[in-house]
Amino acid sequence: MSALATRTGAINLGQGFPDEDGPAEVLEAARQAIADGVNQYPPGMGMPVLREAIAAHQQRWYGIELDAASEVLVTAGATEALAATILAFVDTGDEVVTFEPYYDAYAAMIARAGGVHRTVPLRFPEWRPDPDELRAAVNDRTRVILVNSPHNPTGAVLDAETLALIVELAERHDAIIVTDEVYEHLTFGAAHTPIATLPGARERTISISSGGKTFATTGWKIGWLTAPAPLVTAVLAVKQYLTYVNGAPFQPAIATGLGLPDAVFMDAAATLSAKRDLLAAGLVTAGFTISLPHAGYFIVADAAPLGYSDGATLCRELPERAGVVGVPVSAFVHPERHAAYSSLVRFAFCKRRDVLEEASGRLAALS
Ligand code: PMP
Ligand code: GLN
Repeated sequence: MSALATRTGAINLGQGFPDEDGPAEVLEAARQAIADGVNQYPPGMGMPVLREAIAAHQQRWYGIELDAASEVLVTAGATEALAATILAFVDTGDEVVTFEPYYDAYAAMIARAGGVHRTVPLRFPEWRPDPDELRAAVNDRTRVILVNSPHNPTGAVLDAETLALIVELAERHDAIIVTDEVYEHLTFGAAHTPIATLPGARERTISISSGGKTFATTGWKIGWLTAPAPLVTAVLAVKQYLTYVNGAPFQPAIATGLGLPDAVFMDAAATLSAKRDLLAAGLVTAGFTISLPHAGYFIVADAAPLGYSDGATLCRELPERAGVVGVPVSAFVHPERHAAYSSLVRFAFCKRRDVLEEASGRLAALS
């Protein structure tokens, strides 16, 4: 969809990346690192300054104590952390449970490992999982429960009962919990609880995040995972031969970001929250029904009230009709379940206010 936006000149509310830079200190730290000659391979686990900053961040925000030397692994974005984790733990026929819709990379990674993807539906507009459907999805063949909260594409934040049930099921069936928390700091009033902080979770949980969303540096691809040392070692064995290492000068820069005062994190969330409200109002004025997200970069909107039943077709036509690009929610759902999500479209609001205002005006012309 980004290529379509570039080709047609449409406003790209498809792919989730900000169009403004994040904290100046973080950008300056990367420039300084390059000037200081931090341009060669970093250590396989990541630079100590970053591993220590990640451990300190987990302690400061969540009270999680980590050994930076053995329980923190730096990766090429959250993407590599997810891929290496799935390749490390999922063998042919092993089951992996995710919610659905899901971040699209999950299905591909599970398939690449030979795993079987089981999903638990989240339904528009509340996106709250049914505990019985969650229970039914997990069994003794489940190797991994892959959690994503705050969630892409829905903007849902899992509630305490759901998180507790996931831990209970993982313990009962001896599954590993993998949790993708890349939107951890981009919440709008809803509290983000890392699942690793729940009783019984820590020893079986791999927590994944990255600097891309928090510091508006999605192109830097500095991610990480934190987990008990034996789990980290298993993932490292895969990561060694995927990328080995990446992003030397960006590692200390993200370490600088992680050390910034609380207010910097909160201001970023507040700014994004106002942008959410701006695009939400625009979509409602244009005639969409929306689900107001509690976190993240995206709003899911239902185009059915506008007379569009097929979001994929609408998204292909939207650049022509309205000069805007969105992504059909069916892109985050297995093909056999497209029908249940067919009129839904995901729009990114991590864009400048003038861009969101212009996009809203253009979408209003649809009805
Ligand atoms: N997980 C989710 C839920 C995401 O939305 C993204 C960002 N597109 C990623 C992982 C990938 O993060 P990174 O860019 O750090 O690889
Ligand atoms: N996570 C972002 C999104 O969902 C971008 C990542 C990607 O395009 N692969 O749009």
